Amino acid sequence: MDFAHALIDWYNHHKRQLPWRETRDPYKIWLSEVIFQQTRIVQGFEYYVRFTEKFPTVHHLANAYEDEVLKLWQGLGYYSRARNLHLAAKTVVETFDGKFPDNYSDILKLKGIGPYTAAAIASIAFNQPYPVVDGNVIRVISRWFAIEEAVNSTVGRMKIEKSVQELITGHPPGTFNQAMMEFGALFCKPRKPDCESCIFNNSCLAFRQGLVGKLPVKIKNQPPKKRFFNYLVILSGNNSNQLIYLKKRPEGDIWQGLYDFPLIETKTGTDTKSLLSSFAWKAIFNGTHPLVEQVSGEFKHQLTHQHIFAKFITVKIEENSLQNADNYNIAGLQKLHDYPIPRLIEQFLTINGFL
Ligand code: SF4
Repeated sequence: MDFAHALIDWYNHHKRQLPWRETRDPYKIWLSEVIFQQTRIVQGFEYYVRFTEKFPTVHHLANAYEDEVLKLWQGLGYYSRARNLHLAAKTVVETFDGKFPDNYSDILKLKGIGPYTAAAIASIAFNQPYPVVDGNVIRVISRWFAIEEAVNSTVGRMKIEKSVQELITGHPPGTFNQAMMEFGALFCKPRKPDCESCIFNNSCLAFRQGLVGKLPVKIKNQPPKKRFFNYLVILSGNNSNQLIYLKKRPEGDIWQGLYDFPLIETKTGTDTKSLLSSFAWKAIFNGTHPLVEQVSGEFKHQLTHQHIFAKFITVKIEENSLQNADNYNIAGLQKLHDYPIPRLIEQFLTINGFL
């Protein structure tokens, strides 16, 4: 039995029963592929269920407000995925008459859909022979063929793509792609793959050559950038109607479209005294006299390419005393639940009893 036959046979006996595997609906396959990029099944499963319940068709998603979509996505991270889902749904409705495009090149034109997702949708929903190349597939292929070039180099990537294209030819592409991903996730795992009981241990070159622990090879990325956020948690109003100042995150930075607080970003960690006398502080509180109520300890929040070191300074101001209040969304504390917020902000609000 060749590699693809053996793999598909293994998949048919061992695959997990998951709702997006029971459908050929390209919209639902697309949702699942986007949700499960960078996200484990156990973490993303509830999100898939909630998205398909709230937005059962591409029309429902296209007609939603961006805040609604981001709120539902809250906690998953990589928020550009949610914004792009929303934009692409609008394109499907406006440009393709609400019918999901049924070929690889049109699917690839949709916002946020790269070759990986386009291949998954085209193969699973429309049976087109495009191989999916995700982290699981890269690991299996690099080991089975003992590819020693870095898989994130051009040469290494080309070798992987060529190899998987050869393997998929002549086999049902959707099943082959799902089988590869499942095999990488469940069996040929990054650490401690169970090679002794693997169906491929006779043919796997990495196993035969003692290279399993060394493959796949990757060129190291730049170390994450450190950023220092000094958040101003501005409160006003009275006990029965307390207000909090929120700020919508701008384009071109992390968490675009979500809400956090007025922010002073500094190049290094700064003590509160220096912050209170800084130009940025005066610019924000121009014309009012904030009363500093509390300064938090440091919150460390890790993203893939950035490490955020955040401090929260809670201040009280007189109602309507901030001159540039138009820059902010002023929310009643009981309305905070309606705003999509990054996990770091959710953590602070929860610890301090605001949520
Ligand atoms: S023998 Fe080990 S390294 Fe090779 S495919 Fe199987 S699990 Fe992966």
